[in-house]
Amino acid sequence: MIKKYLLYAFVISLSLSACTDDPDDMITPVEDLTTLNLAMGNPSDAETDASYEDNYLMEIPQYALSYSRQRGTANWVSWYLNEEWLGDVTRRNDFRANESLPAGWYRVDEDDYDYSNNGFARGHNCPSADRTRSINDNSNTFFMTNMIPQSPKHNGEMWNELEQYCRDLVNQGHELYIVMGSYGVGGVGDSGYREKLAGGKITVPRYIWKSILVLPTGANDLERVDEETRIITVLTENKNSASGQPWGNYRVSVDDIEAATGYDLFSKLPVEVQEEIEVVVDDGPVG
Ligand code: MN
Ligand code: MN
Repeated sequence: MIKKYLLYAFVISLSLSACTDDPDDMITPVEDLTTLNLAMGNPSDAETDASYEDNYLMEIPQYALSYSRQRGTANWVSWYLNEEWLGDVTRRNDFRANESLPAGWYRVDEDDYDYSNNGFARGHNCPSADRTRSINDNSNTFFMTNMIPQSPKHNGEMWNELEQYCRDLVNQGHELYIVMGSYGVGGVGDSGYREKLAGGKITVPRYIWKSILVLPTGANDLERVDEETRIITVLTENKNSASGQPWGNYRVSVDDIEAATGYDLFSKLPVEVQEEIEVVVDDGPVG
């Protein structure tokens, strides 16, 4: 019996020491994943303070966001994506109000977009398919605080292709820091132009953007971002006709988004690094 335990101890210590050179060991452990959603920065210095009515920070393990009470949507949603987040849970579709908003704030509910009258999809910021490790992970992408009124073709075609490309990058050995946001007023869905839904409680954004920082899977992510690091940034109008072109045609620089929104993306990176990479418009592969 004792010999058997000694043998086990020997095998375990062997496998532990073997791990140090194993590239799989450089993958971020699952238990650390949930702390990474804002690792590259909080673009608008959102705070979990109800006096920040239009820049209210909400963090859950699956993603972090800045919520606007006046717009009834997030300003931006930020999340980290690597292969650990991708599992085989099927889409839950449990769209629901987020009861963790501050007391007295209107909670947008699953019926407020009223597609049959308004013609807009409940478009995810952090995609359902980026959070498939567990039922809870996937379900938490269906809070209405993670949705925007998005033109159905924009959502289902061009944007879906960009989301899929992100997961392709992950499956090719990358890890991603993603921020998606929206701003402005007025979009064109299946029933024409709308500015507000639900009697004014929800603003239809005019512009939808996303910025994706791409790193080969590894450790010490903040320290290894440099002028060679790929960032894919896309700025689109929220209308069905936007899907007439592939997402790659809408690439802009991070500086373009920062100028339009007043945010500071990737603010945890050294200023010199931001200056180098935020001016670049990506021209890499699109699929
Ligand atoms: Mn979508
Ligand atoms: Mn920046």
